[in-house]
Amino acid sequence: MSRRDLSDAGIGTRAIHAGQDPEPVTGAVMTPVFQTSTYAQPHPGAWDWEYSRTHNPTRTALQDCLAALEGAKHGVCFSSGLAAIDTIIRTLEPGARVLCGDDVYGGTYRLFTKEWAKYGIEFTFVDTSAELDVPAGTDLVWVESPTNPLLKTTDIAALVDKAHAVGAKVVVDNTFATPVFQRPLELGADVVVHSTTKYLNGHSDVVGGVVLTSDDALHERLCFLQNAVGAVPGPWDCFLTLRGLKTLHVRMERHQSNARALVEWLEQRDDVATVHYPGFGGMVSFVLAGDLDAATRFVKATQVFTLAESLGGVESLIELPAIMTHASIPPDVRAAIGLPDGLIRLSCGIEDLADLRADLEAAFAAAAAE
Ligand code: PLP
Repeated sequence: MSRRDLSDAGIGTRAIHAGQDPEPVTGAVMTPVFQTSTYAQPHPGAWDWEYSRTHNPTRTALQDCLAALEGAKHGVCFSSGLAAIDTIIRTLEPGARVLCGDDVYGGTYRLFTKEWAKYGIEFTFVDTSAELDVPAGTDLVWVESPTNPLLKTTDIAALVDKAHAVGAKVVVDNTFATPVFQRPLELGADVVVHSTTKYLNGHSDVVGGVVLTSDDALHERLCFLQNAVGAVPGPWDCFLTLRGLKTLHVRMERHQSNARALVEWLEQRDDVATVHYPGFGGMVSFVLAGDLDAATRFVKATQVFTLAESLGGVESLIELPAIMTHASIPPDVRAAIGLPDGLIRLSCGIEDLADLRADLEAAFAAAAAE
């Protein structure tokens, strides 16, 4: 419970203070790393803190901070974004029906189709950015908005109305937008999930995930699974993520201003065929006028943009989704959703814009050279 009343506070104030009162013994302003697996009990079975798979104060501070950012009552942290996603699916019963976006992160698609489908959960993939019906009998609607890597957006409030009309819950993977640009719970969604690995931590030094909800019964079930399965983050990772979160709002402004300027510049070039950008945030994808070889030369030539998977860190990254992050999606499925092999994805970092533009300019020259 926070000493400060942050109920009317802005997102920057929440990012810095929520869940993080000064430590009561010394007054330490920064939440300590409670690097312990267990806690002394005054009497057998009488405890405030029992065991670190179940509870850890550094993890609690992170969970409370993330909940405050998304406007959720509860946050439950996991050791990766995929562990968080996996836990949400575990709350379903065998035979449950999930309506899922057709342009989701490749690892999410792999987990659903290769693992959970074999335990009798039924997944149907649809374009959630288009007008769609939520069929009766659907238990869960799974949305990424913007999608990865085509950056299509979904009208979350409209989808929530349709889902709730048939008794389905709505989960939004808000990793790309972050609560700075989009808060799905305020739009009626039931659950938000994040890979905290990305913008929330923001420094490419931690893998983590979180599930956020205001549904008390679901929260209780998530806590049970967090403890029963044990895919928990360590206290040091929680500390680093709390530290990263403190600058989320200022980082996101710079990610966005760099991305917007680069999009404007890319759209004017004859050697770019298509640019995808949802109008906000730091992610951009585009297709060169040339072939896959040209795209490969392009991504190998950049020096400020590092050729690497992942996104959302302070440093700019570049990749080819079809060969890297989305290789687990079969080629025919990629073709069906319009994901060309030559699509280049940029995670625009917070470096100086002129250096990012010069780096891409040099890559265009390398791509054009046979
Ligand atoms: N959701 C999205 C949108 C992602 O891009 C990723 C990873 O790239 C994940 C979930 C999985 O998160 P993690 O890598 O932390 O397991």
